[in-house]
Amino acid sequence: MKTIKFFSYTAVLLFLMTSGFVHAEPVAEGALQAPAARPVEMAFPVVVSPENPRLGEPLTIGLLGAAREAQARIVSASGELLSTAPFFDTGETIDGAPVLAAILAIPSTAQAGPATAQIRSQSSVIATVPFTIEPREFFHEDIPVPQSSADLITSTDPKKTEEAEVLWAILSHNGSDVYTDGTFIVPVNTRRITNPFGTGQVFIYPSGERRPPSIHAGIDYGVPTGTPVLACAAGKVALARPRIITGNTVIIEHYPGVYSLYYHLDKIAVPEGSMIEQGVPVGLSGATGFVTGPHLHWELRVGGINTDPDAFVVRPVLDRVALVQALRR
Ligand SMILES: [Zn+2]
Repeated sequence: MKTIKFFSYTAVLLFLMTSGFVHAEPVAEGALQAPAARPVEMAFPVVVSPENPRLGEPLTIGLLGAAREAQARIVSASGELLSTAPFFDTGETIDGAPVLAAILAIPSTAQAGPATAQIRSQSSVIATVPFTIEPREFFHEDIPVPQSSADLITSTDPKKTEEAEVLWAILSHNGSDVYTDGTFIVPVNTRRITNPFGTGQVFIYPSGERRPPSIHAGIDYGVPTGTPVLACAAGKVALARPRIITGNTVIIEHYPGVYSLYYHLDKIAVPEGSMIEQGVPVGLSGATGFVTGPHLHWELRVGGINTDPDAFVVRPVLDRVALVQALRR
């Protein structure tokens, strides 16, 4: 974890503004160098974890004692906004101050190298933490698809547009509830991966036509139809219904802006709106929707950005104990 401590006039002012003592105009960017000698020193520690995320991985920013409406952003060296998320309350406090967190994602298509985590409040930057995005290699694959799947993609059914809008409304929604804790689990009892995360893929139709390249947004597990598919972590079932392209689909909300998705199920076992524990079946795997054979497509979205599910399995995306320890330093 990377920790910085931030002492400034801006911090004092923001504390006063958010605690209701004063009403002030937003502090302009660049005001961080303001008066060095102040009678009161306020610290807003910031933690970025992991310190050096790879392309396609989540990044969690912890913040102590700042404004609850603060926003986190990841900005590339060239100034491109890569990811943004509001802070939420972790339920932890240090000396009475709330420990806030924001979970963001490094897009798999971003440029590796130097980047900055920015914390903004009242449209001003109140803290910045430089970090490095580590590179990684992704596969490239030409995937022949049967005519029936090709027809699904090329059909102009308005229902597809409607379904896409419903999906996006869910994935871009940032609630404030934390439904889970700890590491996620792989949802099927196999390690047979038939298409890994981040693959640059080109679908080829029986006519020989090549579709424009796309990025594989999740992990495909080659399991036979009827294999139990388990919730990767506890959460709330945000969607559980058939869709044209993704077949029988389940989406679970885990953290604000963090969702897991399960595609092409043969059967759905959970109702929309229900709460589910980690390891409980969401359904049975299958071959519904746009597929070349039976498999489970498992996907993690963070603020709408497709993120490597394995990163959630190898470490907790929100480690409250580590966060509090790092912020106390
Ligand atoms: Zn897939």
